[in-house]
Amino acid sequence: MALRQLIAGNWKMHGLTGDLDKVGHIMRAADEAKPDIGVALAVPHTLIFAAAELADGSRLDIGGEDCHQAESGAHTGCVSAAMVKDAGATFTIVGHSERRTDQGETDVLVAEKLSAALKAGLSVILCVGESEAERDAGNAEAVVAAQLKTSIPEAVDPDRLTIAYEPVWAIGTGRTPTVGDVAAMHDSIRRSLKDRFGDAGISMLILYGGSVKPENAADLLTASNVGGALVGGASLDPESFAGIITAAG
Ligand code: PEP
Repeated sequence: MALRQLIAGNWKMHGLTGDLDKVGHIMRAADEAKPDIGVALAVPHTLIFAAAELADGSRLDIGGEDCHQAESGAHTGCVSAAMVKDAGATFTIVGHSERRTDQGETDVLVAEKLSAALKAGLSVILCVGESEAERDAGNAEAVVAAQLKTSIPEAVDPDRLTIAYEPVWAIGTGRTPTVGDVAAMHDSIRRSLKDRFGDAGISMLILYGGSVKPENAADLLTASNVGGALVGGASLDPESFAGIITAAG
């Protein structure tokens, strides 16, 4: 069944094995979601195996938060896309703004990671989004269009690619764009995807991410071309995440 919306959590660098009961709670919320609403949870690499075992047979997809661009090699401490898949993930996030900032990841590198993830058989959530200065300068749509152009490599299966629009200034800050601004950006991203992928670009999901909470989810999720949410902080609290899942669709 084609998904109408996807609610994806991102635990970032949070979570020990003692937190797996939260995955169980989120799994039950996923199983109770409306039929065409998908639920996914990206967890630290150390938790993928256990979380995927727990979620096996449920409607909750477990994913990674990043992968290396190389298939294998002398890259101490790094994790390849094949390893993420082998641990039980069905997808991975690439290009999250925290990695772009903390690890200096460029659009070119993100495109390489995206290719590696697809080659390994994973689906991908690609994050894009402007800084506050870029929005204030009136460049938000141009910045995001440029990120999409360079971060999406040549040979891509659009059925396995989801875009997450995450304004950097809204992540973890409690601030969100207006519903109108979200709609304008998602309409612009849709135009880019249609230009790039033709008809396939019409059905690709475009998630909104940045301080989504149960209280604002219903409004944000009804904005034009919003195909779900990527949720950081609120996904660490299963009750809050369940509230966002209920608001979808
Ligand atoms: C994120 O990490 O992708 C995110 C959107 O975080 P938060 O929901 O906490 O703003």
